[in-house]
Amino acid sequence: MARKVNYIFVTGGVTSSLGKGIISASLAKLLQGRGYSVTIQKLDPYINIDPGTLNPYEHGECYVTDDGAETDLDLGHYERFLNVRTSQANNVTTGRVYQSVIEKERKGEYLGKTVQIIPHITDEIKDRIKILGKTGEFDFVITEIGGTVGDIESLPYVEAVRQIIWEHETESLVIHLTLVPYLKAAGELKTKPTQHSVKALLELGVQPDILVCRTEYHLNSDIRKKIAKFCNVSSDAVIESIDAETIYDVPILMKEEKLDQVVLEKLHMSSAGKPDLNKWEAFLLRFKNPKNEINVALIGKYIELKDSYKSIVESFNHAGASLECKVNIKWIHSEKINDDNSSELLSDVDGVLVAPGFGSRGIEGKIQAIKYVRENKIPFFGICLGMQCAIIEFSRHVLNLDGAHSSEIDEGTDYPVIDLMEDQKKISSKGGTMRLGAYACKIKEDSHAYKAYNESIVYERHRHRYEFNNKYLEDIEKAGLKATGFNPESNLVEIVELEDHPYFVGVQFHPEYKSTVANPAPLFKSFIKAALENKKRS
Ligand code: GLN
Repeated sequence: MARKVNYIFVTGGVTSSLGKGIISASLAKLLQGRGYSVTIQKLDPYINIDPGTLNPYEHGECYVTDDGAETDLDLGHYERFLNVRTSQANNVTTGRVYQSVIEKERKGEYLGKTVQIIPHITDEIKDRIKILGKTGEFDFVITEIGGTVGDIESLPYVEAVRQIIWEHETESLVIHLTLVPYLKAAGELKTKPTQHSVKALLELGVQPDILVCRTEYHLNSDIRKKIAKFCNVSSDAVIESIDAETIYDVPILMKEEKLDQVVLEKLHMSSAGKPDLNKWEAFLLRFKNPKNEINVALIGKYIELKDSYKSIVESFNHAGASLECKVNIKWIHSEKINDDNSSELLSDVDGVLVAPGFGSRGIEGKIQAIKYVRENKIPFFGICLGMQCAIIEFSRHVLNLDGAHSSEIDEGTDYPVIDLMEDQKKISSKGGTMRLGAYACKIKEDSHAYKAYNESIVYERHRHRYEFNNKYLEDIEKAGLKATGFNPESNLVEIVELEDHPYFVGVQFHPEYKSTVANPAPLFKSFIKAALENKKRS
């Protein structure tokens, strides 16, 4: 018999940034803890085909999946919480929906019909929701609708949700996330914004089944009853989501509020027993009770918006917890570092991570910081552009290749130590055309990387156009910067490590994308260990 698939929709009202992604991931974690197979999908109502072309200042980091999809950062939360891989099917944008409808129209697939938002766009949205259910892999598909109910751009999504509920009444439900603000002057929590946002949903034909109310103060039973009464839900379906100390507390808080139990009851499924969160709780215990502490500098050009480095920060949390070590991040803007102040800015940290990025802004600061940590033997971890900067720095200051650069930044450089990949040379379109997703890396024994992974072939995710120029490999290696990881098919250099340095590792891939609570990224663990040792030494 085919597996019964349940569709859970998560909408948001009142304001953005209420944390729909974390609530979706927390509910999924609870259902997973009861033995169910769950996936989460994000529908984004913007016209970009994917967030790959978006500046990180817009929506934070672009998260990359194994299959090379450039996606919303919420997919990172889904993977980090569930330890289950996502794919292109888990992130859909309005741009992608319209693109496929228009392609079908050009192929004549609509047989001369007028192509309209309803039914053609909504059918396309429905297909993309159900595609995950049809795989037969999941008991639950949780679909998070980006944006806020009432926005023009989310209307077709809410209509698609309405139709799916109408078709699958007993296998679907809607969780609406709202805000219950505290008015200081009145000394009261206010329910009206919630009432209004439920009304906005009702106008679109959708009655939420469960309300998750973000709040700074506990909701007493009177408030819960009031919200239930005016919003047409049962009072056990008014769930409090109080501000949490960390996002990793939210599954525990949702368990206490019985969110999973209410969901199962509404879907006429057994809610007996409790979800098993033992491993999660063990992680939280280590995370909150560290035995050691280190300070690590994170050097990047988007640090005004910390979400631009979401996966890196969470990788530090996962790896730090596994080592019972708190990792404090000192955020340093790459444009602010120069030869004169690098000692002042970096002498008090135990390790330095130079972040990924694109374009010329802040590049000289990154190079300067790397010079300082190389010369002063401070543990260094360079990711993607961070690794490329390490090669530029080494070429300029050790090999004396004056003006060595990446051809991304200086097309006319005499020493393009980082150059455009061969198969990128013919590409002009920007969207989805980089080297994306998981590729193999063969690691040389007797390297930090080998010690970290304890494996000779690993698969890590990529997102870049430029690469280490193998023309310079021999000279660079002779001078002490060794390539310790290669892609076995293309021979592209994936990892470099410096000899005669306690820990100097640069990687062309992004280990941060695969780090989860259950499986911290090995290279983050080894970097933290090196920083701890450096701290003890000094
Ligand atoms: N801009 C560099 C490239 O395209 C590095 C990309 C990155 O750091 N993700 O190769």
